[in-house]
Amino acid sequence: MLAIAGAAPDTARDQASVEERNPTRMSTLETIAPHGGTLVDLLVPEGDRAKLEEEARHFPKVVVSPRELSDLEMLAVGALSPLTGFQGQADYAAILETMHLSTGPAWTIPVTLSLTDDEAKRIGGADAVTLLAEEGGEPIAILEVSGLFRRDREREADAVFGTQDLDHPGVQALQEAGDLCVAGELRVLRLPAHDDFVEYRLTPAQTRAEFARRGWRTVVGFQTRNPIHRAHEYIQKCALEIVDGLLVHPLVGATKGDDVPAEVRMRCYEALFEGYYPKDRAMVSVFPAAMRYAGPKEAIWHAIARKNYGCTHFIVGRDHAGVGDYYGTYDAQKIFERFEPGELGITPLMFEHSFWCNRCEGMASPKTCPHGEQDRVSLSGTKVRDMLRAGERPPIEFSRAEVADILIDAMRGSDAGAG
Ligand SMILES: [Zn+2]
Repeated sequence: MLAIAGAAPDTARDQASVEERNPTRMSTLETIAPHGGTLVDLLVPEGDRAKLEEEARHFPKVVVSPRELSDLEMLAVGALSPLTGFQGQADYAAILETMHLSTGPAWTIPVTLSLTDDEAKRIGGADAVTLLAEEGGEPIAILEVSGLFRRDREREADAVFGTQDLDHPGVQALQEAGDLCVAGELRVLRLPAHDDFVEYRLTPAQTRAEFARRGWRTVVGFQTRNPIHRAHEYIQKCALEIVDGLLVHPLVGATKGDDVPAEVRMRCYEALFEGYYPKDRAMVSVFPAAMRYAGPKEAIWHAIARKNYGCTHFIVGRDHAGVGDYYGTYDAQKIFERFEPGELGITPLMFEHSFWCNRCEGMASPKTCPHGEQDRVSLSGTKVRDMLRAGERPPIEFSRAEVADILIDAMRGSDAGAG
């Protein structure tokens, strides 16, 4: 499914003919249409805000969890287009059963808002509830209640995570969530406040505008929750060879405790970009989602979200969004075959494990290198963590010195992993 050079998506070709007819439209060209066709924007217009803030005071209040707050932010800015709120029972059932919304478009992970039974009782039959990020905090959004349903935890765990094992971090988060889900459209009063990565928090509308400003027609997105070592850099640059631009899009919502903190990762990306990436062909912005560790289902979900950010292509490596050994190495790539051509819109670029080969004298993968393990520089995540913790740089063929130094520095006085 690797796209060949020049194989731009239909949307880009259609846009090209529009541009020929009307060159003044060039600055507003789209790389690709959002999922479902329209980029959703749930933020209420400035002029209506004061009135809605006043209304919000009178509705029952619900404090949303950090994970759900990430989803709310994604919904608000259209990263989850075509969704316009937290999902109801029809979509929930359709997604678990068919990997599609009840209205048709592909979708693999339900986006729900949990309530405990007590919260549900307190809300009673209210038509609307006010969502808060913390007890006594400013209202974030108003949810127009359209339904309330009981989640099927076992079924959801099996369908999304492929397991009911409570050691799985996604299953565990699901277990901790409330039994009930409240559904409805959102009117968002303000985005959740952040004091980190402020200059990197581009909404889908903003990344799309930036791609247009740079004149990129085709853009490959790279999801990451890890520092970028040579193998990831190689894959990104292979992909960049066939498209106009690269969006490195690190996830900065909740991850499991032993992942490298986002702030450390961001310093690594900055060092890499400074030294090794062409500024006019590559950019970084952050993805506010929380990690699910849902492997294949999350690979599709990540791809759809990146399409909303304007990416035409999406890198899917080995064990994308995986954890432990819950998924097969290539499950997250194979799942793309289960959708009809064109259904997802975004083109997945599949990559194998890559490494430095001493005989090839360069980065390679099993697909391109005929040599054996003895010629390849491969280190386990555990080995890399041990080296960094001991203040030792991994071989330069494995990790850039600038990245290694940042990770070594971050490990001092911290037990965070750095694989
Ligand atoms: Zn080789």
